[in-house]
Amino acid sequence: EPYIPKLIEVNYIEGSSDKKWSSGNFPWTKKLEANNKKVFGNHSFRPNQREVINATMSGYDVFVLMPTGGGKSLTYQLPALISPGITLVISPLVSLIQDQIMHLLQANIPAAYLSASMEWNEQQEILRELSSCKYKLLYATPEKVAKSDVLMRNLDNLHARELLSRIVIDEAHCVSQWGHDFRPDYQGLGILKQKFPNTPVLALTATATASVKEDVVQALGLVNCIIFRQSFNRPNLWYSVLPKTRKCLDDIDKFIRENHFDECGIIYCLSRLDCEKVAERLQECGHKAAFYHGSMDPARRAFVQKQWSKDEINIICATVAFGMGINKPDVRFVIHHSLPKSIEGYHQECGRAGRDGQRSSCVLYYSYSDYIRVKHMITQGVVEQSPLASGQNRSNMASSGRILETNTENLLRMVSYCENDVDCRRLLQLVHFGEKFDSAHCKKTCDNCLKIKSFVEKDVTEIAKQLVELVKLTREQFSSSHILEVYRGSLSQYVKKHRHETLGLHAAGKHLAKGEASRILRHLVTEDFLMEDVKKSDIYGSVSSVLKVNESKVYKLFSGGQKIILRFPSSAKSSKLSNFEATPAKGSLTSGKLSPPRIETPAHLPEVDLNLS
Ligand code: ADP
Ligand code: MG
Ligand code: ZN
Repeated sequence: EPYIPKLIEVNYIEGSSDKKWSSGNFPWTKKLEANNKKVFGNHSFRPNQREVINATMSGYDVFVLMPTGGGKSLTYQLPALISPGITLVISPLVSLIQDQIMHLLQANIPAAYLSASMEWNEQQEILRELSSCKYKLLYATPEKVAKSDVLMRNLDNLHARELLSRIVIDEAHCVSQWGHDFRPDYQGLGILKQKFPNTPVLALTATATASVKEDVVQALGLVNCIIFRQSFNRPNLWYSVLPKTRKCLDDIDKFIRENHFDECGIIYCLSRLDCEKVAERLQECGHKAAFYHGSMDPARRAFVQKQWSKDEINIICATVAFGMGINKPDVRFVIHHSLPKSIEGYHQECGRAGRDGQRSSCVLYYSYSDYIRVKHMITQGVVEQSPLASGQNRSNMASSGRILETNTENLLRMVSYCENDVDCRRLLQLVHFGEKFDSAHCKKTCDNCLKIKSFVEKDVTEIAKQLVELVKLTREQFSSSHILEVYRGSLSQYVKKHRHETLGLHAAGKHLAKGEASRILRHLVTEDFLMEDVKKSDIYGSVSSVLKVNESKVYKLFSGGQKIILRFPSSAKSSKLSNFEATPAKGSLTSGKLSPPRIETPAHLPEVDLNLS
């Protein structure tokens, strides 16, 4: 059924800036510190851990935004240990739960879990022991809460005896369709707050844009909720985006050899086949590499992961199925062999590098044709999901219009991140999480900060209008790379055949550098002036995309109501825009006749057609 958000008035309280929560004078402080050392073996608290614990122990609903690896688990495991009764933890993935329970049991903290796939007898046994308070923590998957009346009755019973001390929603962004790991069953979790309004709820996530946060708080029904957040900037990660060419694998080999030879890393690939190919190639080049993806049998997957953890393998070539709950501190590089599906996902995947604080590299190989490929896979619902979002929802994901739209939108943001060769990578990522960042603090640790000395802002409205005009004149039949070819004056057979349709706009942009024209065109797509439609173009199943004009936005451009300003590097070599005034195209519409365009070297642009079998 459609999801209709019920809007409640939420009072957010910024916890991070309130000194009260870092006090060492709470009634539980001594117990807290002793248990942190004795039971968990930690010497101190990490940023915000003490504050979050104090707020939830004080009985408030708390929302925690903490980067992956920041130590979110401790903020509920410690309170569970020093509170009477039981803490219920909702977590999306059985393998994550099992991993946590293993660690808890090793520390002698009694814990158990319930999942829908468990034997009935086993579940009965756990519920019995639950009512006698044998456990401090009970983990459950969201499906279990949604579907099990028995569990609900048991929770009621505990609550009546004042033994339900806290409800924890881990990976809380799964509630939101705007997030990258949407799980429909998470949306039903609002029932917990309805049934137990006085039991404090602690929601934790490493990924939340403003809209995700709002969704989570609304769906869970949190009121007067205290928010703790900290910077998502990871100063020790060095970011760069490189063009993906046919010799991408050679480039990767060379990059690792020169920068991280024999060090530990992850290469994220789009498809299972890609993982296998990349691993094979790297092995041939003398690296200790292996692949990891969703269609390997679980034993094999576990084996590969173990080999990697023990440094018997350096490089793992994986889909996004790999990485959840992985805690290896010395991952020195994360390479994206293909375009990630969202900035959140990208940030999280990169976040697996450099947990130990040492300098690590994040390199993304980008090509526009990967965008078409990913987009097609998203439309078809065949793209491998992170395990958080996977499971029974996968087929629904593909068919639901709104989710498809969100996914496409997320992907477009990622494309615009890759094509931006001006702004600080950290800034671009952090802006996405609603965080302010001064790019001076990057200190040249990203490719864009490193190469750009200064930039100029240019009004490119006239170029934008020409590009839109060109799309219209060609009756919305061309893909963006074809539009660029025409605009920059290529004379391929196809372009030649259709040249008469383009009136004077053929080659109108020949004085622009290739990157500049494409950045402007792409800007028009990401800002919704133009829309990209994926088309199956022939019986062989190859896909291509065509550009359409969004009339409802474009009229503002032509009426002078909106200008398009972009930043360009001011180094003379890369920008000819600085002295560009939108010259009327040769043989423009008003002159009525076409003068033959002067053709310089035809631009070679990658073929967009792809054979996806
Ligand atoms: P998150 O859920 O935020 O990704 P985890 O809770 O899994 O992070 O913690 C990541 C790692 O950090 C774990 O290995 C955990 O033992 C460790 N850790 C957490 N808190 C502390 C601390 N105060 N001191 C030292 N290590 C810690
Ligand atoms: Mg966690
Ligand atoms: Zn930077």
